[in-house]
Amino acid sequence: MTGARHYLDCNATMPLRPEARQAIADALLTTGNASSVHAEGRAARALIERAREAVARLAGVAPAAVHFTASGTEANNWALAAAPGRTVAVSAVEHDSVLRAAERRGARLLPVDFNGVVRLDALEAALVDGVGLVSLMAANNETGVLQPVAEAAALCRAHGAILHVDAVQAAGKLELAPLAAEAALLSLSAHKLGGPAGCGALIVGGDVAPPPLLVGGGQEARRRAGTENLLGIVGFGAAAAAAQPATEAARLGALQRRLEAALLESCPALEIFGADVSRLSNTTCVRMPGVAAEVQVMSLDLAGVAVSAGAACSSGKVRPSHVLAAMGREEEAGEAIRISTGWATSAADIDAAAEAWSTLWQRKSAA
Ligand code: PLP
Repeated sequence: MTGARHYLDCNATMPLRPEARQAIADALLTTGNASSVHAEGRAARALIERAREAVARLAGVAPAAVHFTASGTEANNWALAAAPGRTVAVSAVEHDSVLRAAERRGARLLPVDFNGVVRLDALEAALVDGVGLVSLMAANNETGVLQPVAEAAALCRAHGAILHVDAVQAAGKLELAPLAAEAALLSLSAHKLGGPAGCGALIVGGDVAPPPLLVGGGQEARRRAGTENLLGIVGFGAAAAAAQPATEAARLGALQRRLEAALLESCPALEIFGADVSRLSNTTCVRMPGVAAEVQVMSLDLAGVAVSAGAACSSGKVRPSHVLAAMGREEEAGEAIRISTGWATSAADIDAAAEAWSTLWQRKSAA
């Protein structure tokens, strides 16, 4: 690759924070197995527990509530295995790792409105009908749209249902403590907040305990056996400690306004999905009318700008985004790209993206 690159696909994976890189490099020198009683083992254990404390601080929970997993996907799958026997409902815009796990339990899909916000009347009706486990994401990975977690939690409480919140995209961008206070189960993923991929966590609060995910050794309070991924966990802890959601959200919000104003100026016919409701300040899902998302992604890539068409997990496949489809926007979904920023994003990255996108629009609209 030649020329400057501008990485704006942070919802797919956030660049590793320098603090995480350093912590991982240091931990490479640790030999012990955290289950061993000797000094080397105790050193590994200390690193893991320090990371657990950092993740717990970020989430506003007690360290004992944090259970490390191999990914956000694993945390979601595990959460969806909670309370066997109860009927499950999930919103139609959840990540595939929730949707596919929910399918196994014959879950109901809760509709969303035009902006992608879950219909609380549908949730209430499902609860009245006996749904006992609900999964609702805090923030959508494609549009950044926030869900009304507090309202959903109040409804769940009123009906004795358990609430799981997929906070994978919210972590590092929003304060997690209010979400963790509402949810019995909360999923996180290290690589979405500047830690390494391949490490996540399920926060298990109160008296809700999903059945052990993996049995074997006594790791993770006997709920998820297997020698811990020391490097991943250490990197996760360092990223969690470095994240400053309020400060970062304010800085990224200014970049988001700059980006969207520039895009709108060049192409007044554009559409920004979820623009009328609360969104993450790092995510812009924008549609260039009449231009396929793949063309936009490739054109920006050639200009040095990395963005994605819909969710990373579904890119490469020609299926329209299930998120935009659930919003009633299936037709338009093929023209939507996602621009997502993070701790390393600068105003120069934003300007490069806006320029490349505007250039493409001018070319296409002149053709
Ligand atoms: N939940 C959401 C909202 C996500 O965006 C993702 C990843 O894109 C996941 C869960 C899965 O996380 P992981 O990549 O760690 O498996």
